[in-house]
Amino acid sequence: MKKEEDFSEWYNEIVELANLTDKRYPIKGMNVWTPYGWKIMRHIDTFIRQECDVTGHDEVCFPLLIPETEFQKEKDHIKGFDAEVYWVTHAGLNELDIKLLLRPTSETAMYPIFALWVRSHSDLPLKTYQIVNTFRYETKMTRAFIRVREIHFFESHTCHVDYDDAQRQVEEDFVILEQIMKRLCLPYLLLKRTDWDKFPGAFYTVGVDTLMPEGKSLQLGSIHHYKENFSRPYDIKYEAADGSMKYCHQTTFGMSERLLGAVVGVHGDDKGLALPPEIAPFQVVIIPILAKGKVEAVSAEAQKLKQELAAAGIRVVLDDKDERPGSKFYNWEIKGVPLRLELGMRDIEGGKVSYAVRLDGRKGTFDRGQVVAQVKETLETIVKQMQEGAKERMFGRIQTIESADTIPSKVVRFGWCGDPECGHAFEQKTELKLLGTPYTGENFKGKCIICGKETDKAAYAARAM
Ligand code: ZN
Repeated sequence: MKKEEDFSEWYNEIVELANLTDKRYPIKGMNVWTPYGWKIMRHIDTFIRQECDVTGHDEVCFPLLIPETEFQKEKDHIKGFDAEVYWVTHAGLNELDIKLLLRPTSETAMYPIFALWVRSHSDLPLKTYQIVNTFRYETKMTRAFIRVREIHFFESHTCHVDYDDAQRQVEEDFVILEQIMKRLCLPYLLLKRTDWDKFPGAFYTVGVDTLMPEGKSLQLGSIHHYKENFSRPYDIKYEAADGSMKYCHQTTFGMSERLLGAVVGVHGDDKGLALPPEIAPFQVVIIPILAKGKVEAVSAEAQKLKQELAAAGIRVVLDDKDERPGSKFYNWEIKGVPLRLELGMRDIEGGKVSYAVRLDGRKGTFDRGQVVAQVKETLETIVKQMQEGAKERMFGRIQTIESADTIPSKVVRFGWCGDPECGHAFEQKTELKLLGTPYTGENFKGKCIICGKETDKAAYAARAM
């Protein structure tokens, strides 16, 4: 499995070998979460919940089915999702008068109810989120976690008194995002999408993109300001302090199991997964090195070590199966456990514990008496190393170009005057997707790559995954 040679093949092989998912379920693109994959996803979900909860969002859970009549209220939204929707047409033996669809996202499920919940300005802001499965009929080739038809999905939906308050929510979403991405050690770009690529129904969309090793971009999430685009058709209005009725301004923030796909793609290597310690189901694996006549003594000491680490809140597994240590090393490397501890008679006698770091293979010994503190410190170092390494690799894949005639096999950054005509011309000429312009100001001075006009705006483009 060579990651650099054939990323696609490497990715497919790794998710199978690490047993993150079972793709044998008899519906294409609807995969089974295995215990190991689900453990990782649960950690990610836990971080999302924590960040949403501390910022005053309430978790809700809306029905999976949406009546066609509600779905049809916002015209751009329907146009954007029409071709991707799964329909329920029968209930038992009866054909339904009003067809039902499986949520592709939950605006049209939530907003008729938000119209009932929001009455007065004192009900605002309304800040909700849910983590549920959504369904989209993907016609492109499916890929575990990255392009699936049943999607493990996070979505926050908020209502506000006016544009500015909704704008503040967008800014808060960036903070929430940063907290989560730090723990996943994933670098990303925040790019304001072009008007022709924004979310169906949004006023504007900010895409969260990371870059995959083969130089393609992967959208990990998106944050939208809806203005009144949904509150008008769904009649979400409130009585202002002066007694007048006003429509809410709304935002959403969505992310999915793609986060896990990105972790696999960004951090993994030819040996398998490399998991960031914060989401690793097991942060440490202990492998006893059992020599004849010493089995009991070593096993007992390994058990003790495991209990000490577990008591300190470290997620640890003791692999005492009857297998050769070499094959155990190999298996836990595939699974991406950040830190391996080895304990043999010689270690015990010397008051040491041997270790190996999954990320870079470095080895050494901890003092038995200090092992808890040293393990914790090492895990923290690994987090920093993963954050910095991934960032360096991502920015190394971005190349600033001044002409659209020859395009490197990388993600490109270039001047764009912002005129849609120049944008379309660029996309046509290069066959790249224009990802958008940096949401937060980025110093740039140059010329529009198409029309040559002076511009201080940079744009990014890539092949999308
Ligand atoms: Zn131009």
